[in-house]
Amino acid sequence: MSSETWTPSSWRSKPAAQNVQYPDAEHHAKVLAKIQTLPPLVTPSEIERLRHQLSSVQKNEAFLLHAGDCAESFDACTHENISAKIGLILSFSLILIWGARLPVVRIGRIAGQYAKPRSSAYEKIGDREVMSFRGDNVNGLSPDDRTPNPERLLSAYFHSTATLNHIRGLLTSGFASLHHPRDWSLSHVRSPSLRKEFEAISEGLADALEFTRTIGLDSGQEAQSYEHGGGRGVLGEVDFYTSHEGLMLDYEEALTRKFPIPGNGVPNAAKKTPGPAFYNTSAHFLWVGDRTRQLDGAHVEYFRGIRNPIGIKVGPSMAAEELVRLLDIVNPDRESGRVTLITRYGAGKIDNHLAGHIRAVQKSEHPVIWVCDPMHGNTLTSSTGLKTRNFGTIISELTSCIRIHTECDSRLGGVSLEFTGELNEEGFSVTECLGGSMELSEEQLGLRYQSFCDPRLNFEQSLDVAFLISNRFKN
Ligand code: PEP
Ligand code: MN
Repeated sequence: MSSETWTPSSWRSKPAAQNVQYPDAEHHAKVLAKIQTLPPLVTPSEIERLRHQLSSVQKNEAFLLHAGDCAESFDACTHENISAKIGLILSFSLILIWGARLPVVRIGRIAGQYAKPRSSAYEKIGDREVMSFRGDNVNGLSPDDRTPNPERLLSAYFHSTATLNHIRGLLTSGFASLHHPRDWSLSHVRSPSLRKEFEAISEGLADALEFTRTIGLDSGQEAQSYEHGGGRGVLGEVDFYTSHEGLMLDYEEALTRKFPIPGNGVPNAAKKTPGPAFYNTSAHFLWVGDRTRQLDGAHVEYFRGIRNPIGIKVGPSMAAEELVRLLDIVNPDRESGRVTLITRYGAGKIDNHLAGHIRAVQKSEHPVIWVCDPMHGNTLTSSTGLKTRNFGTIISELTSCIRIHTECDSRLGGVSLEFTGELNEEGFSVTECLGGSMELSEEQLGLRYQSFCDPRLNFEQSLDVAFLISNRFKN
């Protein structure tokens, strides 16, 4: 397969799982032609910088935090929601940096995470059978609005643009300053022990920054020097990258553009792969989902040709030799930082699969980053019919994952989480996952269940996870 010529549209000759059929093909083509003319959302040099930083993760010199909503909605594209999400990602990463003393590479599931793969194409609502909701860029949540509308792709582009613009604004105007970590919306955290723990870090950090200033190391860029050796971060004071599942290939193709590979100050970046390359300019990082990773399918064909670093979801149905064949296809030159394997087996299944996958990849000598997604294998339905996840089960998969990596002489390079800092109008966190230090019960789930896709950890539950990882990695 991989010897055939790749083009941004070569995926079209392969079967595409989760394909969306538009009733008006002409309208769809017109929208795609328009998107093709619109400017890139991210730049090749930003993408190269992420590749370089992921290569550090692969070499155990940094940790990866991949997090955000299961799916973004167009309606949630507001100042409050975006700043709450960024604030939580920054707080989480600060806890990791402080505890593990490792730089953290932050990739948000944001500014384009609209499309959703579904287990079934149709669902029953009352006595009607309607097409499943496929995400805001395809159809509407209302059962009366399920016909795929291509205009939604254009709307996705502009909502991504607005979100990204706001993130860039936030990160270049002091929001991410390590001098004021309390501004990242800790005010509503009610748990006294969590507040205390986070405040201890803020104070320690303030002392460290003060000390740096006193001894004259402060060049006004202390935030970055703490991170990746100085220089302004990709989206401002700190590095922050965007990602989404590369599900809608026609949209991804329309934003795939040919550029010379920028040197970027990164040693050998331009030498290794000479000539121009195809960049997906809709996000820095894209991943292929567990439902679309067929070796001979359209998604793998598309992913093998783009220069961006990519993620691959790995679930219990992946055979070990299939995983290695997949790596051969998407990373034939075995470039460090190119592939991140996001494992999501479920707490009850991880012991049966992870070690076999690690050993097969070790034997193949493919350089990969191993990331734990303890969310997607652990979804259940509550007695009241809500899709939820149990905090204890999430922690169980995560701790098993760390243990199995150690047993296999491997290392967990990061986590992939669905969480949100979103608050309701009265300033309360969402109630979508059970347990955590706030001991959320089944009866409380319905109180502020705001996700329109998978259940997310709320602010407090996320900080619980951050402290747990941070303590595990403390040496
Ligand atoms: C997701 O990340 O939201 C998702 C659908 O994951 P997976 O492909 O692993 O099921
Ligand atoms: Mn999800």
